Amino acid sequence: MIVLERIAAVRARCDEAVRAGKSVGLVPTMGYLHEGHRTLMRAARAENDLVVVTLFVNPTQFGPNEDLASYPRDPEGDARVVTEEGVDVLFAPSVAEMYPRPGLTHVTVDEVTDGLCGASRPHHFVGVATVVTKLFSIVGPCTAYFGKKDFQQLVVVRRLVEDLNLPITVVGVSTVREPDGLALSSRNAYLAPDDRPAATVLYRALECAIATVKEGERDPVAVRAAAVTLVEREPLAQFDYLEVRRADDLAEVEHLDDGVEHVIALAVFLNTTRLIDNATFTVDGAAVHYDLPGRSPVAQEH
Ligand code: AMP
Repeated sequence: MIVLERIAAVRARCDEAVRAGKSVGLVPTMGYLHEGHRTLMRAARAENDLVVVTLFVNPTQFGPNEDLASYPRDPEGDARVVTEEGVDVLFAPSVAEMYPRPGLTHVTVDEVTDGLCGASRPHHFVGVATVVTKLFSIVGPCTAYFGKKDFQQLVVVRRLVEDLNLPITVVGVSTVREPDGLALSSRNAYLAPDDRPAATVLYRALECAIATVKEGERDPVAVRAAAVTLVEREPLAQFDYLEVRRADDLAEVEHLDDGVEHVIALAVFLNTTRLIDNATFTVDGAAVHYDLPGRSPVAQEH
């Protein structure tokens, strides 16, 4: 594993691999790596000759009152994780390397960024789409691995790759969770011990929504209402949003039609920590196929 800080060095490595007929796998991250990130790396390692992980806390995707300054960092721990996962290159550029001067060019993806996290974080997805496009341009043709945990981000990235004809294959990887259902996130480090049990409210709300669909409810307003009620009953949680949308383009829907993939996505504050989660599901007659694993039996006892 080598750590590279310069764009030119990463570009040279990736170009060389592609010229030699090798495949490149890319895993963009902001570091403080956990099992969710490891799962992306394992998928990339299994399917590619050269695996590049990027570690960059991108300032342009944080709002003025967000957690850029306090975002958890552990460069030594991260280097250990990528070594353990057999990654070839860790690209860890400085802010000056990525933005030698303020960028005048921005990648804006319309419509799919309108609601959900886009509503409470107005400039977030311009920052994400722009930095991801820069990373794609640096690494070149590759398969890029993104977590479904950040579902709207995945939709944004898929769409920008499609719209701009980028030579990138995007792979979405299922969310890795704690035994009690909490989705792993670097921001879980902010949770006070007292808030930690309440943080399962996101998972419980998703469980409730899926159960409501399984009971036969096909009105997204009713599904949403059931899950919102559950969030509102958690005294330590402050509701940000909860929406049921079509998964492909995050369009609002009036009915949960058969054969169409939907997503239920939410964001909740626990004190000042904002957590997000989601589950995708498809109605198939009386059956419902969904991407939300059960809690482990041990966690269910508590
Ligand atoms: P981040 O470092 O939070 O920007 O995340 C880097 C990548 O890891 C993104 O594609 C995330 O969606 C993905 N990721 C974060 N948490 C998880 C998780 N619990 N399970 C799967 N992927 C995740």
